[in-house]
Amino acid sequence: MGIAENIEQIQNTIGEEVKLIAISKTQPDDAIREAYRSGHKIFGENKVQELANKAADLPDDIEWHMVGHLQTNKVKHIAPFVGLIHSVDRLKLLRYINKEARKTDRVIDCLLQFHIAEEESKFGLDLQEAVSLLNSRDYKEMQNIRITGVMGMATFTETHSQIRAEFKQLRQIFNKLKSRFFEDAPYFKEISMGMSHDYKLAIEEGSTMVRIGTAIFGERKPQ
Ligand SMILES: *Cc1c(COP(=O)(O)O)cnc(C)c1O
Repeated sequence: MGIAENIEQIQNTIGEEVKLIAISKTQPDDAIREAYRSGHKIFGENKVQELANKAADLPDDIEWHMVGHLQTNKVKHIAPFVGLIHSVDRLKLLRYINKEARKTDRVIDCLLQFHIAEEESKFGLDLQEAVSLLNSRDYKEMQNIRITGVMGMATFTETHSQIRAEFKQLRQIFNKLKSRFFEDAPYFKEISMGMSHDYKLAIEEGSTMVRIGTAIFGERKPQ
């Protein structure tokens, strides 16, 4: 099947309420254009340089998301245009995003990334760290960022019960933060969870945004 058919099929599976982020990392511009021509406008990348290059080359009305680990010194390259940063995992990073957003007179939407998987290699906060971040004076003074929800990646496993439990955990974190910090903030509503192999489980557990790469574009070539 082609890229457009893959998107259509996934869109039909996830329904209208859940947002599809097409993860185009390592894919050539032509593959993105093919998706774009079929009507898809939201793409995600995990590397700053690749994201900035593609944003420069491709149509202006694409909404670009950053989903990968982000170094503070690279924030400036994406701050002028990025639509959503899924991977905020420390206060220091948020400070840089706020600073660079201010320079371009923007408010940048961000998700707090949580470590829900077994694997040590994955990034993310735990609940306690998030609470202290949100309680910090620093955070409260930031005018150019807006936290719109949470993001997490489940363990890479075949065991559905484990994946489901990890997604449940992320939803509980979302609920706790919502009631403690964002009760009056309707924009705090996103739970970014689910990839090619586990997005159906993620949606059953309350995902509002799925990040899908290989199920749209096919296998990535090893880099
Ligand atoms: C690569 C990536 C995805 C998409 O993974 P697929 O298995 O290709 O769907 C989703 N989220 C993040 C953070 C990624 O790096």
